[in-house]
Amino acid sequence: MLHEPERFRSEAYLAVIDSSPSSNTVQYHHESIQSMENIAKSTYPAECCGLIIGTLTDGIWHVHDVREAKNLNAERANDRFQLDPDAYQTLDRELKGSPNEIIGVFHSHPDCPAKPSPTDIAHAWEGFIYPIVAVDQGEIHSIQSWALNAKGDQFQEVTIHA
Ligand SMILES: [Zn+2]
Repeated sequence: MLHEPERFRSEAYLAVIDSSPSSNTVQYHHESIQSMENIAKSTYPAECCGLIIGTLTDGIWHVHDVREAKNLNAERANDRFQLDPDAYQTLDRELKGSPNEIIGVFHSHPDCPAKPSPTDIAHAWEGFIYPIVAVDQGEIHSIQSWALNAKGDQFQEVTIHA
């Protein structure tokens, strides 16, 4: 059973989530899920982060691939992440001229639920998808995907495109 730390029930944490789901949906290539899980497991007990590669078309994020990035927050690597901006720029350049672009950022929550935190929303961009991988004692617990709502002040869960 994944332990849910008290803070996830605090007002600050609850205020981050808009309970109605996003009107957009997401489709993951199987390997992209596998890659996020592998990265999250091998980084445990530290928090991993990385970039989401794909397209956003007609309200559907198509996730084709992911790319691990360095977590520059070494001091609090178990509960904070700061994505290496060089990794972003390098990948952005690589994708020029390809049909894919950077469409989101994933990270893991070691021994915490796959729900976004106040820190997560402070760094969130509109139009991006934010998968969070919950790791429980080194094993994958769950993945939930999030995106900013229309007002940009809360996260909505993004469901898998049926
Ligand atoms: Zn987080």
